[in-house]
Amino acid sequence: MSQDFTIHFGFRQLQLLKGDITKMAVDAIVNAANSALAGGGGVDGAIHRAGGPAIMRELDQIRAQIGRCETGSAVATGAGDLPARYVFHAVGPIYRDGTHGEPEQLESCYLTCLRLAGERGVESISFPSISTGVYGYPIEAAARIAVKTVANWLAGDAGALKTIKLVQFSDADHQVYRRQAQELRGEFAAGSAS
Ligand code: ADP
Repeated sequence: MSQDFTIHFGFRQLQLLKGDITKMAVDAIVNAANSALAGGGGVDGAIHRAGGPAIMRELDQIRAQIGRCETGSAVATGAGDLPARYVFHAVGPIYRDGTHGEPEQLESCYLTCLRLAGERGVESISFPSISTGVYGYPIEAAARIAVKTVANWLAGDAGALKTIKLVQFSDADHQVYRRQAQELRGEFAAGSAS
């Protein structure tokens, strides 16, 4: 198994790791949801299974208020039985060919969750690889956006946030994320890797 990969930004850190996001004890777990907020397969199914029915009950209330969640946006619920305080349900883009706003929408998922984290004083947050499963976003391009967006956030005024984990479910995806992070490392304002 590959070792985790960490980039330090002063006392803050970005970790890339392989694993099951539902097992990670953090303040906030991000879900790769759909705009109907209706649950589904992949990481969405895993989060609802592990978190129990309380999460869907809250989503039912949110749906009653706002209808659906726009692509590139996210809504927050409690985390039910998961070892976290919140779940942020982010709606990633369905990939067509990359020229239909997909990169901006994917970046917006990460940024919206980071803002939700900031509003709640979250210190640690875990993201899955949004849109790269059923939604078909090419993993290299999606990994680059994920790493770049969260690294820039950590290099800026990240408030209470101390740790961002980008979680990959397969070894192959983990290697892609590591490569992208290594390539981007020179661009990070204050990052140093270990
Ligand atoms: P999307 O519809 O946004 O593409 P998916 O759930 O189909 O979402 O896939 C997103 C990513 O989440 C994929 O890389 C998939 O391998 C990964 N994934 C699935 N289950 C888990 C899990 N329990 N923990 C972390 N990542 C997971």
